[in-house]
Amino acid sequence: MHLKSLTLRGFKSFASSTTLRLEPGITCVVGPNGSGKSNVVDALAWVMGEQGAKSLRGGKMEDVIFAGTAGRPALGRAEVVLTIDNTDGALPIEYSEVTISRTMFRNGGSEYAINGQACRLLDVQELLSDSGIGREMHVIVGQGQLDAVLSATPEDRRGFVEEAAGVLKHRKRKEKALRKLEAMAANLTRVQDLTAELR
Ligand code: ATP
Repeated sequence: MHLKSLTLRGFKSFASSTTLRLEPGITCVVGPNGSGKSNVVDALAWVMGEQGAKSLRGGKMEDVIFAGTAGRPALGRAEVVLTIDNTDGALPIEYSEVTISRTMFRNGGSEYAINGQACRLLDVQELLSDSGIGREMHVIVGQGQLDAVLSATPEDRRGFVEEAAGVLKHRKRKEKALRKLEAMAANLTRVQDLTAELR
């Protein structure tokens, strides 16, 4: 499995549609300070479901949408498309090529799609989590993050290991199940109240 291409449209400094083709092996992105190198890495994290504006080096989520320059007006939406070569079947989906896309509008939330089919964030996270990639898998190591890992508390360090080991997916499912159980318990209490009133 390898990342084949990344297309950015209206994402941060990439106002025009820009596609980076990636070959297996090491890819280096070079350019002057402020030319958008880190924005490419932000796009990768974002399309894989990143939810934290701070992790994307912004104040709020809409900051990923092209904000305009002196010669070009701001855009209303940002879109990133990631194409993954899945000929080795590392992703649990029956396609040799998988496309994940995320679109965000200035006035609303995000839309996700896998191979052009609209889906939920959870579907993207689940697709990626078994393969060892994904926004919380620590495969993206940002500037200064190595220092953070080295100076982390033992609990935080355990969190990194758990996430790398794939425990995250099960923790998320457990949290979801617990929320459902809580909602169920509230419904049950309500039914019991109504039954008591009717007696
Ligand atoms: P360095 O080498 O200094 O780390 P870099 O090449 O990694 O720089 P980035 O941090 O990726 O550069 O890009 C910063 C540029 O992106 C800045 O010029 C900033 O104005 C621009 N930028 C960030 N968000 C937006 C946005 N929403 N709209 C337009 N431009 C943006």
